[in-house]
Amino acid sequence: MEATHIEHIGIAVKSLKDSIPYYENILGLKCYAIEEVKDQKVKTAFFKIGQTKIELLESTDPEGPIGKFIEKKGEGIHHLAFAVNNIESALKEVEEKGIRLIDKQARKGAEGLEIGFLHPKSTGGVLTEFCEDKNK
Ligand code: ZN
Repeated sequence: MEATHIEHIGIAVKSLKDSIPYYENILGLKCYAIEEVKDQKVKTAFFKIGQTKIELLESTDPEGPIGKFIEKKGEGIHHLAFAVNNIESALKEVEEKGIRLIDKQARKGAEGLEIGFLHPKSTGGVLTEFCEDKNK
């Protein structure tokens, strides 16, 4: 497999409303989309910088993955997402190389991407996501 670029960086925030102004007013980026991903119990806000996006994640449920992350670690970088050309074969290949997967099958993420997560215990502590844009 080959990761082609950093697709996005996921950042856990307590509140999109309180966090968006830093990215817009200080960094000069523009929030181009806000989307709720019900299955992950999050609301996301997207910014683009070059080929890479910043994905702010606000929990919609304290029991959801972002709610729990913030309770344990506070706000901050949550995961790193690599773009891959074929997510099914990428997940399979890394699993065969001994990487523990959170998602054995790709599933739908924000922006219609197919996504799958690798377990941070296998990736040096970095929650890692693979994404494939099947619409491009
Ligand atoms: Zn992500």
